[in-house]
Amino acid sequence: MSQTDSTTYPLHFALTPSPDVRAEAEREAILADPGFGKHFTDHMVTIDWTIDGGWHDARVGAYGPLQLDPASAVLHYAQEIFEGLKAYRHEDGSIWTFRPAKNAERLQRSARRLALPELSVEDFIESVKQLVQIDSSWVPSTPESSLYLRPFMIANENFLGVRAAQAAAFYVIASPAGAYFADGVAPVKIWLTTEYSRAGRGGTGAAKCGGNYASSLLPQMEAYENGCAQVLFLDAETGSHVDELGGMNVFFVFGEANTLVTPRLTGSILEGVTRDSILQLARDRGMTVEERDVSIDEWRDEVASGAITEVFACGTAAVITPIAQLKNANLEIGDADAPAGEITLALRQELTDIQYGRLPDRHGWLTRLDA
Ligand SMILES: *Cc1c(COP(=O)(O)O)cnc(C)c1O
Repeated sequence: MSQTDSTTYPLHFALTPSPDVRAEAEREAILADPGFGKHFTDHMVTIDWTIDGGWHDARVGAYGPLQLDPASAVLHYAQEIFEGLKAYRHEDGSIWTFRPAKNAERLQRSARRLALPELSVEDFIESVKQLVQIDSSWVPSTPESSLYLRPFMIANENFLGVRAAQAAAFYVIASPAGAYFADGVAPVKIWLTTEYSRAGRGGTGAAKCGGNYASSLLPQMEAYENGCAQVLFLDAETGSHVDELGGMNVFFVFGEANTLVTPRLTGSILEGVTRDSILQLARDRGMTVEERDVSIDEWRDEVASGAITEVFACGTAAVITPIAQLKNANLEIGDADAPAGEITLALRQELTDIQYGRLPDRHGWLTRLDA
């Protein structure tokens, strides 16, 4: 059984404009203060898949509720994967996205792990283009704002037997996002959970799937209750090494050594596009880059010795967030009031300057969406 074929490649997208597009005044009011993930544009992309017909019926239509049979597989066995990327408006009004092939390839890897069908890289990028073109007026232009794009795939065969579903659907929706840090980049405190794991050996940690997030919500609540912004997970096998946050990768700056360290990809860590881009930018600056295990003991000892000078988390939504302190009931590493580190801020500035077209795109990371 092959789940990889696009039957008609590349797909043709049928366009049915929404009959009730929001008025300009309403849209502008939303774009003035969009928040994150609260408002959605006027349209969405849908592509259906069946085991016999492959991918078919690619279309752009009005944004609106899905109709799912109560027996739909996704509702019972969590066969679901997603992606997250952004459309950025440049100074000249043009609209771009960042390394979309990376997201497309990761969706393919996630699909393989969750026994869902793979969508071609070309069809993935075209689906994003189609949506951004029809909803281009929803791409904000205020500093550090963007249109967050959420491609996702669900199993939607109506069958309660436990096996890979024989029907699926891929969607893209879009949500305007304001600047993550409205008044300067603020360092956060992170909660270390030793009770819960995010992913085990051979599990789904490297796949971007809803199930990973569902299991991170309880420790995330514990983090909030303890005044922390996010939760850090350790490797499930030994409970000694840093894996990642619920939805962000982690980096350590060894200032004196001019070295940037991040946990290696063990299979339980999600391979972030931001992570990969930061590794490249650090190499470009002449920093030594290491992907290796980092233990909690090393974190504690090398912050104490002064070797680790900065710690930060990264992901598409917040780009780079400085970590001031790691804590739980038995430990506190770092100073909760520490300001954002110099290298943290420099990498953040450089990455966002590339994304917003303020610096040359020397690695060919940008793809134009509006033309
Ligand atoms: C999406 C995600 C990240 C960040 O990946 P980016 O491609 O940089 O946005 C990190 N960890 C997890 C668990 C994620 O789901």
